[in-house]
Amino acid sequence: MPPSMVPSDAAARLLAWYDRHARRLPWRTPPGGPAPDPYRVWLSEVMLQQTTVAAVIPYFERFLARWPTVDSLAAAPLDDVLVEWAGLGYYARARNLHKCARAVAEQHGGRFPDSEDALRALPGIGAYTAAAVAAIAFGRRATVVDGNVERVMARLFAVIDPLPGSKAELKRLADTLTPADRCGDYAQAVMDLGATICTPRSPSCLACPWQAGCRARLEGIAESLPRKERKADKPVRRGVAFWLRDDSGRVLLRRRPEDGLLGGMTEVPSTPWREGPPWLPDDALAHAPLPGIGWQPLPGVVRHTFTHFHLELAVVAGLTPGAGPQASADGRWVALPALGGEALPTVMRKVVTAAVAGVATRRGP
Ligand code: SF4
Repeated sequence: MPPSMVPSDAAARLLAWYDRHARRLPWRTPPGGPAPDPYRVWLSEVMLQQTTVAAVIPYFERFLARWPTVDSLAAAPLDDVLVEWAGLGYYARARNLHKCARAVAEQHGGRFPDSEDALRALPGIGAYTAAAVAAIAFGRRATVVDGNVERVMARLFAVIDPLPGSKAELKRLADTLTPADRCGDYAQAVMDLGATICTPRSPSCLACPWQAGCRARLEGIAESLPRKERKADKPVRRGVAFWLRDDSGRVLLRRRPEDGLLGGMTEVPSTPWREGPPWLPDDALAHAPLPGIGWQPLPGVVRHTFTHFHLELAVVAGLTPGAGPQASADGRWVALPALGGEALPTVMRKVVTAAVAGVATRRGP
């Protein structure tokens, strides 16, 4: 950093900016105000991982209205939590959220511990969340580093080594600026700077409280940072989803295994999802939830992208006479209007939408 800005100056400048420009978010208290409830901080930080603020706000408010304390969340059935979480993605987080609430309720008397180390010992709390809760809810000096903060540090110090290899260095640099006072406000201020001023494209350097000391700005390379190693292309997996209805219009759903992708969530039954060419009809039908159904392909393909792969699902529709029989221990029939109350992950909501539209535009099942 140029001599025009020493670390204590940097923190003071940023905090002065934050006092005027802090985003008002439902889990925050105003700058300089009392520390927010650790439960709200933790809940928001878990929800915000991999998701935008705008997407999180309605979920956060619904969770708070239904479970206003960590004890009430701990007492809730996991299925209810998964239903409320449906659509936020990364469902292992919802399961860990519930586990963590139980651990806080049972092992800590319903109060979150106040140190990074003790927080990290809780289920689903990694380095980032532990630092965020320790700093924001308890005022501990902790260096909170997310993608926004990495970008700001890479630019401020003109770090040209690419991510993810430069992560440790960016954290070290961020730590050199973290002040001993107002740690919670400072952590949120850096995040806000990255989210609103030092944005990935076209950073608003003229509005930035750190412009005088920013090396990347002075060197004219801000927009090109942080550099990133090229990621390998994601593979494509394919599967076939079975949209099976009975005479009364109910649909067959099942629960996914507890372990693995979308663990414990509800799904439209499907073949395994595998890389390679589209499924041949006979191969796919070997995985159908009931034998002897006249399956009809529906138009189009449902596409969804997960962290490590793209998914393409063909959808076939079938009708079973009478009230549908029990297909398997984890299968159950659900009336169409009740699907909104199911813990259907986003990919399965896409399947439902495609199936309903596909069936409506054709005769037969
Ligand atoms: Fe980011 Fe520009 Fe501020 Fe540097 S001066 S930290 S590039 S917004």
